[in-house]
Amino acid sequence: MSLRLSMPELGLKKRRHSFDEVALGYSAEQAIAEAKRCLQCASIKSRNIKAECVRGCPTETDIPRFVKYVSEGDFDSAIEVIKERNALPAICGRVCPYENQCEKLCILSKKGEALAIGGLERFVADHERKKNIKVSKKAETSGKIVAVIGSGPAGLTTAADLAKLGHDVTIYEALHEVGGVLMYGIPEFRLPKEIVQAEVEYVKRLGVSIQTNVVIGRSIGVEGLLEKFDAVFIGTGAGLPRFLNIPGENLNGVYSSNEFLIRTNLMKAYKFPEYDTPIKIGKKVAVIGAGNVAIDSARVALRLGGEDVCIIYRRSEKEMPARAEEIKRAKEEGIQFKLLTNPVRIIGDEGGWVKQIECVRMKLGDSDKSGRRMPIPIEDSEFTLDVDTVIIAIGQSPNPLISKVTNGLKTTRGGAIKIDENGRTSLEGVFAGGDITPGTATVIEAMSAGKRAARAIHEYISR
Ligand code: FAD
Ligand code: SF4
Repeated sequence: MSLRLSMPELGLKKRRHSFDEVALGYSAEQAIAEAKRCLQCASIKSRNIKAECVRGCPTETDIPRFVKYVSEGDFDSAIEVIKERNALPAICGRVCPYENQCEKLCILSKKGEALAIGGLERFVADHERKKNIKVSKKAETSGKIVAVIGSGPAGLTTAADLAKLGHDVTIYEALHEVGGVLMYGIPEFRLPKEIVQAEVEYVKRLGVSIQTNVVIGRSIGVEGLLEKFDAVFIGTGAGLPRFLNIPGENLNGVYSSNEFLIRTNLMKAYKFPEYDTPIKIGKKVAVIGAGNVAIDSARVALRLGGEDVCIIYRRSEKEMPARAEEIKRAKEEGIQFKLLTNPVRIIGDEGGWVKQIECVRMKLGDSDKSGRRMPIPIEDSEFTLDVDTVIIAIGQSPNPLISKVTNGLKTTRGGAIKIDENGRTSLEGVFAGGDITPGTATVIEAMSAGKRAARAIHEYISR
């Protein structure tokens, strides 16, 4: 069985000091060769049997069909197949955890290496962008109007699917840029912003209008939108940083990952002084957490001049939630991993700046509700590390503004908006999806929730 073609990458030396994209993508010849490895497993519609890879894809993209077109060199037809189900393929092809989804179930992985489905999706989407192929057609108008709050992957997908059905959609976005975390969270070297904006342009070409700098819940709320629109979708994400609640978190030199990444990505601090956003980063940087946000923060800190950058995580490598590919790249770039280690105190100097972090060593006990083994502190194992910057990246909570000001909108104890399996909230005509709802934490899950909600909204406004 032939081996999977590895994707070319930017050289290690250049990568450690540059925000240029690390993964470089396949050439046409490489994409064709990789696509030819596919076994073209059959889907039988009448018996509801799907190829394994399709079962693993939250948007149910017809993977064997698009891959077949790639193997024949017909990239234009391949992108049409993908766009039947996925409005943001250049983004998904870069950041989706496909190793846990379509590629995990791919039949080829049983005896060797899975087909590089993500890499092929990325190749086809990039081909479309470079050739400027316009595959979107405006549908005949239905006369119904829908408001979408938030322009992250959930909002963009809901809007695109509704526009394809002929509905008139307006997205309201609080920030000056469109794309949510894709723009302000995930760094340029993993997801170039030019690519996000090209996919946003596709959504606009479908007829969606987008208003930026509008915070729903301030000048106008959900109730106000319902007076004008036939339905409302809330896709406001989880942008509220969580903290450790340990002494010293308010010292100078301690950032939340949110602030750190927004300053770097959205306000372009990495291009200072060309952009007027300074960011102070020391030589010794500790990042707390081990998800994608933590790994991204550590790799950004390295590129901004950090010399000694480490991840501090209370469990072992096996439990790290970040994508395996990005952990590997972080290690190659020189990020150190201090595992089974938990911070208990941040220590400052006389000027109120961070100088040390005190940690305790941990061991793993029994599994918790999530199936991961619980970290337990080892008695008398405290030690200190010299640091001059600390970045807290232990997760985010749902944005609270809309649920606070909307009467009757039910939320969980953690502040996520409660929905049924079709994205309906407790309020008539109001739907929600993505990170603002329980159990969603990835781009593709947010998109999949957007697709479900779009179907339910269509049904609701077509009654
Ligand atoms: P968001 O992307 O958060 O978008 C919500 C939008 O709503 C924002 O633009 C916000 O400004 C806007 N908004 C909020 N409140 C209002 C309001 N009141 N009025 C108007 N607009 C409002 N996932 C992956 O699959 N792979 C990865 O590699 C990955 N890496 C990540 C790295 C980082 C640093 C971060 C932070 C997240 C990462 N994720 C990753 C998670 C993924 O980005 C999110 O799950 C996804 O973006 C959620 O989409 P969303 O549309 O629900 O919300
Ligand atoms: Fe091709 Fe793998 Fe899907 Fe089979 S499971 S069709 S080999 S990608």
